[in-house]
Amino acid sequence: MRVVPISLPTPFYIGPVNVYLIAEDPLTIIDTGPKTKETIDALRAGLRKAGFLVSDLRRIVLTHAHEDHCGLARSLRDEAKNAEVFVHNWETGHRHSRLEYEEHRTLLVRAGVPDAEIERMRGLYEYMRRYADSFGDDEYTSLWDDGELEFESGSLRILHTPGHTPGSCSFLREADRTIIAGDCVLKRITPNPVLSPDPIDPTRRFPSLAEYLVSLARLRSFSPTLVYGGHGEPIHDYEELFHRYFRAFQDRQAQVIGLIPKLGITAWDLALKMFPQADDVHRFLSVSEAVAHLDLAQTEGKIAFELKDQTEVYKPIS
Ligand SMILES: [Zn+2]
Ligand SMILES: [Zn+2]
Repeated sequence: MRVVPISLPTPFYIGPVNVYLIAEDPLTIIDTGPKTKETIDALRAGLRKAGFLVSDLRRIVLTHAHEDHCGLARSLRDEAKNAEVFVHNWETGHRHSRLEYEEHRTLLVRAGVPDAEIERMRGLYEYMRRYADSFGDDEYTSLWDDGELEFESGSLRILHTPGHTPGSCSFLREADRTIIAGDCVLKRITPNPVLSPDPIDPTRRFPSLAEYLVSLARLRSFSPTLVYGGHGEPIHDYEELFHRYFRAFQDRQAQVIGLIPKLGITAWDLALKMFPQADDVHRFLSVSEAVAHLDLAQTEGKIAFELKDQTEVYKPIS
């Protein structure tokens, strides 16, 4: 089973995105890149180089539904008549703009984000919508944990690896323990566990960092020899990266706990302290990061919190 990485340009801060062609029957692409002319042109060129056309694609599989990964799914599906789209049903980004739901508002209010800022964040994500087409519930097949995507000469095992988003999935080729991990594993940056409603109970917050740590440990249990990430170079030494991530999380958690004043603080105010320069979507990502670490520290009994006028205020344990 031949895996062909194709790097595609994006208009986003993160830079190019990696998509992966599985050059075997049924011809499958994992992730698509965002919906821009530069991206589709580069994708066509990459497919041609491997000896294929968009119309040859039979399956479009998404690691998760962020615009840089899922944006072209509909265009590709329409061009490659009858191609089937796969995404985990805990993902919602491909169905609606992010931050669209009332649940998102509730989560942001609870994190102490001021109303005007919530509106601004929503406006920014509304703008992101141009980079991805949405899908109806009947237009895709849900990926399922421990399932197999069968190919002529082998299969890819589907691993549900939540954390970066609730429905993030990775794909394992067991023969040589190669994993395609989307944004779950990135070589140069520690992925952000993004603030999301819990898919099972949307009035609650998805415990993104706790889930993410479990997913990273699960990938480790396969002793991968090679991990292909959603951005940057492939990882040959997952073990080293795993420990680096854990150290980074521990350092960040210690920083978060150290920044909590006696009188308490909201996730929003903490994010402003941690990332005073963050603007645009980075404001949302910085609140995500603060919430993720506060949640985990609180679950582990290292800090306390109380609800004041619908807002969570975190305090040191006295
Ligand atoms: Zn992502
Ligand atoms: Zn990405």
